[in-house]
Amino acid sequence: MSRLLVTLLLTWLATTAVAADRVVIHAGAMVDPVIGTRDATTIVIADGLIVAVEKGHSELQAGDELIDLREMTVLPGLMDMHVHFTSQFSRSAYIERFTLNPADFALRASAAAERTLLAGFTTVRDLGDRGNVTVALRRAIEEGYADGPRIYAATKGIGTTGGHADPTNSYRADLQGDPGPKQGVINGTADAYQAVRQRYKDGADLIKITATGGVLSVARNGQNPQFTEEEIKAIVAAASDYDFHVAAHAHGADGMKRAIRAGVRSIEHGTFMDEEAMRLMKRMGTYYVPTISAGEWVAGKAEIPGFFPDLVRPKAAAIGPQIQDTFARAYRAGVRIAFGTDSGVSAHGDNAREFQLMVEAGMPPMEAIRSATMTAAELLGMADELGSIESGKIADLVAVTGDPLEDIELLQDIVFVMKDGSVYKMP
Ligand SMILES: [Zn+2]
Repeated sequence: MSRLLVTLLLTWLATTAVAADRVVIHAGAMVDPVIGTRDATTIVIADGLIVAVEKGHSELQAGDELIDLREMTVLPGLMDMHVHFTSQFSRSAYIERFTLNPADFALRASAAAERTLLAGFTTVRDLGDRGNVTVALRRAIEEGYADGPRIYAATKGIGTTGGHADPTNSYRADLQGDPGPKQGVINGTADAYQAVRQRYKDGADLIKITATGGVLSVARNGQNPQFTEEEIKAIVAAASDYDFHVAAHAHGADGMKRAIRAGVRSIEHGTFMDEEAMRLMKRMGTYYVPTISAGEWVAGKAEIPGFFPDLVRPKAAAIGPQIQDTFARAYRAGVRIAFGTDSGVSAHGDNAREFQLMVEAGMPPMEAIRSATMTAAELLGMADELGSIESGKIADLVAVTGDPLEDIELLQDIVFVMKDGSVYKMP
């Protein structure tokens, strides 16, 4: 082959390779927590990254693939900081621990992950599973065997004996055994280290603890502190050795404050957060993940006789309705808020209802969107890669028809989903 031909061939290959990689989105409007609101915008994507964001609708280059969203508003991919893919609460949830295998939970989790992605949530934290299912699910999604969001997995949550995350709560004595750090039950600081290291070995990305009692465990108290401050400090210290952050479930103020002082990254639910807790959170830079959706869901089910076990029903009735009000107070106090739903209590795929509940409680729509994009990215330590539509970031984008700042409920009807530059839903 002549040198000229080779050069021509190489040039041709180079141009087609580069050109074929470019995906160009013509958006009718854009709502972004960093850039703000824009009319007609062009977003250029190559190799899964946003490479340009331009005003107006730019001319295409040869080989560009056009995605026409001129009738839509484009936003960054949404991020839910509190889901449980292996759960979908129902009347039969308690008995299913005995009737289902990890494979059953895995298949359900995969379906839940797909629904979540198609609802516009391109990144989630999974805050507690069983059988390390979410590690397998995360791998399956990364390798293309399943569709779902980018998952940050806590694997099995950590509690203390009889605590909210003790997997044998309420079992009859001969079935209780003596679960330990491997199963997420610790007593003392040595156990704390072992439990965190086990999760590292299991493939976790972060640590979840249940700092106080909870609603859905079959146990009397939904609010009491369930760790000593020293135990939480040991968990946080062990976690930081592995570059993990710690998310703390907490309803009661005492256990919550122990967790905040011990240096957890986020407080989940935060139901009976008092002013001192809010001040501490602001001082420590702790994020609040409200999960109003879960509160609303359990409050509704508490009204149905027989839906919950007798020990659970009064907790659901007391804690559920409180969360939206706590959220409102925390927002007004200036606590950093990251979006989270506890989906798996409420239905997977209904995550965006949380936006409506946040706006109802007084948060402006743009702030609610920020909590589910840029603030969530900051919580994850991924602010350079996720959370906004800026050049250099991962191409996670969603779109709605109309203006979500005018009507927040539009976020419950996502018409376009792109994750890592791949399209999962088209209008
Ligand atoms: Zn949860």
